[in-house]
Amino acid sequence: MNYLTHIRTGFLLLLISCVHLTPSQDGFAEEPQWKAGSASVVITPEEDLWMAGYGGRKAPADGKIHDLWLKVLVIEARDGHRGVVVSTDTLGIPQSIYNNVCAALKEKFNLERSQIMLNSSHTHCGPVLRGALHDVYPLTPEHIKQINSYSDKLEQKLVDAVGTALKNLEPATLWTGEGFTSFAVNRRNNMEPDVPKLRKADELKGPSDHSVPVLAVKDKTGKLKTIVFGYACHNTTLGIQQWCGDYAGFAQYDLEAMFPGATAMFYMGCGADQNPLPRRTQELAESYGSRLAHAVADTVRLPMVELDPELKTEIEIVDIKLGDAPTKAELEKIAAGNPDSYITRWGTRLLKQLNAGKPFITAYPFPVQTWFLGNRQIWITIGGEVVVDYALGMKKEFGPSTWVAGYCNDVMAYTPSLRVLEEDVPPRKSSRWGYEGNTSMVVYGMPAQRWSDEVEEKIVESAKRQVKKVRNGK
Ligand SMILES: [Zn+2]
Repeated sequence: MNYLTHIRTGFLLLLISCVHLTPSQDGFAEEPQWKAGSASVVITPEEDLWMAGYGGRKAPADGKIHDLWLKVLVIEARDGHRGVVVSTDTLGIPQSIYNNVCAALKEKFNLERSQIMLNSSHTHCGPVLRGALHDVYPLTPEHIKQINSYSDKLEQKLVDAVGTALKNLEPATLWTGEGFTSFAVNRRNNMEPDVPKLRKADELKGPSDHSVPVLAVKDKTGKLKTIVFGYACHNTTLGIQQWCGDYAGFAQYDLEAMFPGATAMFYMGCGADQNPLPRRTQELAESYGSRLAHAVADTVRLPMVELDPELKTEIEIVDIKLGDAPTKAELEKIAAGNPDSYITRWGTRLLKQLNAGKPFITAYPFPVQTWFLGNRQIWITIGGEVVVDYALGMKKEFGPSTWVAGYCNDVMAYTPSLRVLEEDVPPRKSSRWGYEGNTSMVVYGMPAQRWSDEVEEKIVESAKRQVKKVRNGK
């Protein structure tokens, strides 16, 4: 056989294999494919709960702009391995909800922690949840009872929605793509009032991540069933007293109107140091939502990359050391401060704990998770309020087919990079306001002001271990 015959034979074989793999006429391949199912449930509080996110609020919520949602996508690979994506219009799912939900999903549906991905959209117009941010607000025992009762119901709704999505499983195809929109502005490097002027002069300073990752699920007729999309920008256009999903909520509503019958699910990327700027009006929240929705819609309408029905899921709960705990003398001084200040409430609570002989935690079990879809798409999730350095660094490390979600599974604190921690060594520069890497743990009620310097290294090393595992086919 000469060289040319080799090429011809190779070409013929390629053609044969293409014929075998090409979808049949109804657009669906013969061989076993993905299965997918989704479910949506309204989680707007019926009672006037306190709203999470801004320390300055003086009263509970008063009505709504639109409903808050919890949405679930379950995907099942060819070998039966399942993954559950959950999007929520909440500020942040705390550890207690994450643990309870994982235990219930294990018991009811035999799902492991690695298979469960809970994202919070970080809307600042959602409810305060159990055990989260309680020092920030002047909560009475009655308020706390309401918050706990809402959180119990939220857990039940989440577990039930996973059950519904499992029942809805049907043959599907999965597709990935990436859009772009640029309303996220680095809030540490650009003063908010200067942004319009800086934008006009093309002088906004980064780093930022303006990509819009999109996962599209289609049924066997090619109809769009579910769209999961991300963006790395604080969901803080609004600071109002009504329930609202902010720009991410509007984007989901817009997409579900553009693609009737489809479920649109938002996930927060590494946008903790990014803000939608300018902000503070509903028009702007709607405009950013619309821009994001159109970036997603354009991506979905253009050719996307089809994923083979392969799924691998990994998770590590990494012990990350906290920074120094406050001393008793420091706490006594703080506790004697202005009783209306959240720092005083924080100090008083911790002092009580110390006096009761209960030691402070010195490290925290921090979730880092990796999914590998279609032997191609890496999807890493990180707990806490994650800065953009993680997304940019991991894309560089693992390649362009990498998505990095923040605000996943347990939103327990800010998650700064070492760069941000080092920039924030006091005295802080005024332009760094808005993401306080060195002091923000107080807001979350932790017994320290910050993570220790190992935070970034521990998270990145964990992701590297997991990516290696999933790529090696474990
Ligand atoms: Zn935040």
